[in-house]
Amino acid sequence: MKTVRVRDKDFRLFLTPQQIEGRVQELADTLNQEYAGKRPILLPILNGAFLFAADLIRRLKVQPELQFIRVSSYGQSMQSSGKVELLVGLDIDIEGRHILIVEDIVDTGLTYDYVKDYLLKKNAASVEIVSLLFKEANFKGQNRPSFVGYTIPPAFVVGYGLDYAQSGRELDGIYTVVEEK
Ligand code: IMP
Repeated sequence: MKTVRVRDKDFRLFLTPQQIEGRVQELADTLNQEYAGKRPILLPILNGAFLFAADLIRRLKVQPELQFIRVSSYGQSMQSSGKVELLVGLDIDIEGRHILIVEDIVDTGLTYDYVKDYLLKKNAASVEIVSLLFKEANFKGQNRPSFVGYTIPPAFVVGYGLDYAQSGRELDGIYTVVEEK
């Protein structure tokens, strides 16, 4: 099985680029039905969601608009800090608009809760999320993710935009950490 070294850890291939591509297309097919006629605002959360968002938007036929926000991330660690901070917010009016957040991964769900609340306070018509990955076992949020690519075990993953202390985003597959014995 293919393994890579990212910083001080070994990771093994978990989802191939072909698997990801196929699943992104399936998610786009679902979203094309759900958002037909709604002209949603696609809202990737930087930095991790940039690759997924780029692949997804090219498959959407619902005339999406695109805006970005940035929230604080894990920093250098492999554990959520439990605190979410908005680093770059929205500078457009979203009143009455349908917002589709794009995430690489929903883990505890605290980021989604925070961002959804922020957007609803700005009077969005609807706020949903499409997340490529969902670590369901770690989930403790108020809002379950609406559209999920893969529900995965709670081990740390890198690649396809996801980082380990800012490294590993460029990998075209998704890799899971190899626990040291
Ligand atoms: P949550 O607020 O706990 O749901 O965390 C969401 C954010 O944590 C994601 O957008 C990622 O930035 C980060 N994250 C969670 N799990 C992983 C992982 O396995 N690898 C890389 N980043 C992760």
